[in-house]
Amino acid sequence: MLLGAHVSISGSIAKSVDRAKELGCTTFQIFTRNPRGWRAQKLKESEVEEFRKRREEEGYRVVVAHMPYLPNIASPKQESWRKSVSVLIEELRRCEALGIDYLVCHLGSHLGKGVQVGIERVAKAVNEALSKVETRCVLLLENMAGQKGSVGSRFEEMKEIFARIEQPERVGVCLDTCHLYAAGYDIRSEAGLEETLRSFDENVGLGRLKVLHLNDSKGGLGSGLDRHEHIGHGHIGREGFRRIINHRHLRELPMIIETPEDEEGDYSYDLSVLRSLYQKV
Ligand SMILES: [Zn+2]
Ligand SMILES: [Zn+2]
Repeated sequence: MLLGAHVSISGSIAKSVDRAKELGCTTFQIFTRNPRGWRAQKLKESEVEEFRKRREEEGYRVVVAHMPYLPNIASPKQESWRKSVSVLIEELRRCEALGIDYLVCHLGSHLGKGVQVGIERVAKAVNEALSKVETRCVLLLENMAGQKGSVGSRFEEMKEIFARIEQPERVGVCLDTCHLYAAGYDIRSEAGLEETLRSFDENVGLGRLKVLHLNDSKGGLGSGLDRHEHIGHGHIGREGFRRIINHRHLRELPMIIETPEDEEGDYSYDLSVLRSLYQKV
């Protein structure tokens, strides 16, 4: 089972490997930098080497990075869109240097200008960024929770984005279970999960699905709330997660938890619940 958590890079990027290892992760996700600012410190060669070496030593086949919080590639405002694209390009470069396999990017918000505007902006951002950098790292677009103004909480919107992407072989999808549920996809029930995956396949294609974010949802079905809960403690529940992680189309994907880390041991708890639900075949 490829299961891990979003771990901190505090101290050094290489320390993320130790943290992942300590949690028993078989894959993991990081920010390559402080996620709260626009600017990143340049990667030092020694930092890059140390990370690559530690990862290799521990045998991590798949490592994921997440974009920082501030960029909004769907922004209708030229200046903030431009800044967001710059960060996307920079992150793609950093991931490439670090040997990271996937970079996850939220689809963002059209800030009231309408979903069609958002779709165009996202596609333009992705096309521009990919035209500026050669990467082995694949860019993953993450579904949104359906907050007001968000782009890409519906698979029909993702379909329209992919139709505009010039290098689709370099782009995939990361689905977040909390965001799916909050956006109105009833993945808690068996029939709902099947219908969700059928619709995803029809609109986007299951072949594009590369990573799952496993988070339970504090908000109800269709609430539009992006509030992560511990596995089994939210609306999706243990049985919901048992079906999700064992589903024939999902069970081999890298799965990452981004559940709240209020206390030491929270991640261990969520990971152990998921491991206990996973059925070996
Ligand atoms: Zn997520
Ligand atoms: Zn979220």
